[in-house]
Amino acid sequence: MYWSKIFLPTLKDIPQDAEVISHQLMLRSGMIRKVTSGIYTWLPLGLRVLRKIENIVREEMNDAGAQEVLMPMVQPKDLWEETERWKKMGPELLRIKDRHEREFCLGPTHEEVITDLIRNNIKSYKELPLNLYQIQTKFRDEIRPRYGVMRGREFLMKDSYSFDINQGQLNESYLLMKETYKKIIDRIGLRFKIVKADSGAIGGDTSEEFHVLAENGEDTIAVSNSSDFAINTELLLSDGEDLESLQGKPSPDGEGIIEIKKGIEVGHIFQLGRVYTQAMRANVLDQEGKATDLFMGCYGIGVSRLVAAAIEQNNDEKGIIWPEAIAPFEVNIVAIGFEKDQKIAKAATDLYIKLSSMGYEVILDDRKDGYGTKMKDAELIGVPINIVVGKQYLENEEIELKHRNGQSSAGRVEDIKTIFEHFKES
Ligand code: ATP
Ligand code: MG
Repeated sequence: MYWSKIFLPTLKDIPQDAEVISHQLMLRSGMIRKVTSGIYTWLPLGLRVLRKIENIVREEMNDAGAQEVLMPMVQPKDLWEETERWKKMGPELLRIKDRHEREFCLGPTHEEVITDLIRNNIKSYKELPLNLYQIQTKFRDEIRPRYGVMRGREFLMKDSYSFDINQGQLNESYLLMKETYKKIIDRIGLRFKIVKADSGAIGGDTSEEFHVLAENGEDTIAVSNSSDFAINTELLLSDGEDLESLQGKPSPDGEGIIEIKKGIEVGHIFQLGRVYTQAMRANVLDQEGKATDLFMGCYGIGVSRLVAAAIEQNNDEKGIIWPEAIAPFEVNIVAIGFEKDQKIAKAATDLYIKLSSMGYEVILDDRKDGYGTKMKDAELIGVPINIVVGKQYLENEEIELKHRNGQSSAGRVEDIKTIFEHFKES
């Protein structure tokens, strides 16, 4: 991809209505643009990151034996009346009517639709366990959409639903998803905590959240400084506990001291048990030939929220510092004098072709601007490796390499692979 061709409208100034750093940087680096409150268009650079996260999620879900489906965004009222959520959900559920005055909602989540699918198509315990997932647009008419795509009204979620014949098997399905979520966030390259949580409007008993640690997190979590113990303080408050009072106290699991941290909830896993399957009569024949209601789990990951969370955790005053696994490009070739000097243009283009054929995702800055402007934009969009082809190349055929994390090096084009490996090791 050439900078002169890609639709990448960067901004010099901090947009006024963006409070948190990820929102500011996503606008400034030309990743997203707002359409209306809580609703955004993803531009090419942003979409590349979103797709990378989506693919990591898809690969790990498939690896865990879950199967991908795609359910509709528009859902009929009658399914939501069966679970009484048409009443319970309140104004967060966006309701619409068709030309025949029939009522529908835009799906904020899909328990009703999936339970309907399962009750109509699964007859026996022999067809279980089953775990179905989708990566799909959700709509929630949030009371306070804010922080850009972090709390949007329209957003991309991976939601999955497991169905089992008994509680023991549900435990297994749940633990498998918990492990899968750990792998996903590890692969993306973010620091996170698994936190005991409130099940909220979705219902059920056991639930845990995955929080990316970041100063601008909306949630407050109490974590032990020497074990895995972590709890959303929402839970403590609803139990009538004062928070403040936990600070510096010994952790309830007996290991370490409690510290208060800010987190961004990027994933949420629930054991729903039989809440939905009883309400919607989703039963199958068990080993004894008796009809039995299914045990259900549901598991969500905020795919679009993860993009913002990754930026909250990885940035400096110059811009984004992408973790390699989700960077929009791996290498940025900064060609200084591309339009003036044929030697530079040829060297930069050859390097672009060479790196692309080696399998790297490369962007070549062929614009007329000088070094300062190009490096500023490079640092803003946060590509891990920047290669400068300029004066030094004309003098001694050496290229200059600058890692976004601050490391730098110089060398000949032939040695590029070795230099990249060296960057990776340190
Ligand atoms: P929150 O407490 O942040 O509102 P939630 O508990 O309502 O989240 P879930 O219903 O569990 O969220 O949805 C699964 C995942 O979808 C969340 O962990 C989060 O990553 C993401 N998500 C939820 N609401 C939004 C939103 N308004 N914008 C972007 N992502 C969201
Ligand atoms: Mg919510």
